[in-house]
Amino acid sequence: MYQLNQYSQSWVPSANGSMFPVQNIPFGIFSDQQSRRACSRIGDYIVDLSKLADKNLFDKTGCNVDTLKGSVLNSFISQGKGVTGKFRLRLAEILDLQNENIFRDAVQDCLIPVEQCVLHLPLNIGDYTDFYSSREHATNVGIMFRDPANALLPNWLHLPVGYHGRASSIVVSGHKIKRPQGQIIPKEGEPPILAASRQVDFELEMAFVIGKENEMGNSIPLSEARDHIFGLMLFNDWSARDIQKWEYVPLGPFLAKNFASTVSPWIVTLEALDAFRVEGPVQSPKPLEYLTPEISRNFDIQLEVFLNDKLICESNTKYLYWSISQQLAHHTINGCNMKVGDLCASGTISGPDEKSYGSMLELCWKGTKPISMDDGSTRTFIQDGDNVTMKAFAKNDHYCIGFGECSGVII
Ligand code: CA
Repeated sequence: MYQLNQYSQSWVPSANGSMFPVQNIPFGIFSDQQSRRACSRIGDYIVDLSKLADKNLFDKTGCNVDTLKGSVLNSFISQGKGVTGKFRLRLAEILDLQNENIFRDAVQDCLIPVEQCVLHLPLNIGDYTDFYSSREHATNVGIMFRDPANALLPNWLHLPVGYHGRASSIVVSGHKIKRPQGQIIPKEGEPPILAASRQVDFELEMAFVIGKENEMGNSIPLSEARDHIFGLMLFNDWSARDIQKWEYVPLGPFLAKNFASTVSPWIVTLEALDAFRVEGPVQSPKPLEYLTPEISRNFDIQLEVFLNDKLICESNTKYLYWSISQQLAHHTINGCNMKVGDLCASGTISGPDEKSYGSMLELCWKGTKPISMDDGSTRTFIQDGDNVTMKAFAKNDHYCIGFGECSGVII
C-alpha cells in the first residue's frame, strides 16, 4: 500500500522544494480554453482532475468522477473524507517519484503550466461566518475603541465570538475591489455624511470549509469537528473602519464588512496540515465542557501581508485563542445546521508583537503610526491603487505547504 511521507518526492521536478510538493495536493477550480473544472496543483503545474479521472485511475477511491467536471467543488467535497481523502492520497501516489515509470506517460497530458490557467472561486459558498478568535486582535481593538483596563468584553474568554457575514461578495484572489461608500462621521460630534470610505483596511484571516453537513437541531461535538472540516483557505476580510465605527452599535458589523472578502484559490486539506499541529494558547478560565479541547488544537502556519510588495505583517495561525474545532462546535451547539461549502473565517490573526498585527488599524494604531512605503509616501489605511497580498505557508525541515496568494487591489 502506498505511503505518503515526509521524504516523498514527485517526478514533477518543480514540485520538490516548492510550496506545492506531493505532500500538499490542494483542491481548486480552473479554466483554460475550456470550461471551469476541478484541479489540483503540483509544483508549477495545474493538474486537470476531470481529464485525469477519465483514465480510470481513481476507481478504487469510490470517487464519482462526474463531481470533478462541475464549476465548483461542493459535490466533490460532499462525498465525505472517506472518499476525498483516498482520492488525494491516490493523486499523491500517481505523482510520486517512485511511481514515475507507472504513471508518467499516462498523466503527462493532464498537467498544464499554471500561467496558462485562470483560477476561480472553488466553492458555491452558501453561508459565511466570521469569528473574532485572536485574543491579541480583540485586545488591541478593545484598547483603541473602548477601555484599556477592560479591553476584552466579559464573554470573550468563554466563547468564540462571531457574526454572520455575507457570502455573495466573497471573491477569489486577483479581483479588484471597489472602495465602498457609506455613512461616516467626518469629525467627532458632527452629523453623518454619505462618502467614500477613507479608512479601508484588510483583515488577515484563515477560513475553514465545511465538508460535511449536520442535521438542523444537532450539534457537532468537538471530537467530530475534524470530520466536518474539509480544509483551509487564506482570507482577507476587507473592512471600512469609518463606516464600521458609526454603524456597529448595537448589532455589530454590517456594511463595513459585506462589500468584499477575498480568498486564496486553493483549499488546503486538514490532512496536508496535520504535520503542523501545535498547542494553542493556554485557555483560562477553562471553557465549558463542549469547548474543552484536545491538545494540539492549532496549526503552525506562517502568515505574511504585503502592501505594494512591502512586507508589513508577519503573523501565524498558532496565535489563535479559539481553534477551528472550537469555532465549529460552538457554531452548532444550538443546533444550527452547516452546509457543505459554508465558510467560517477566524477573525483577524494578530500575534503578540507589533509586526504581527493583522490589520492596518492595529499596525498603524488607529492612524497614529503611519507605515513608510518604499517610494517615500506613507499609509495609515489602504489607498486607491494599493495592492494587498497575503501569503500563508506551513514549513518543516522536509517540505513546505503553500496556500497560494490572496491578493486584491482597491480601486
Ligand atoms: Ca473579520
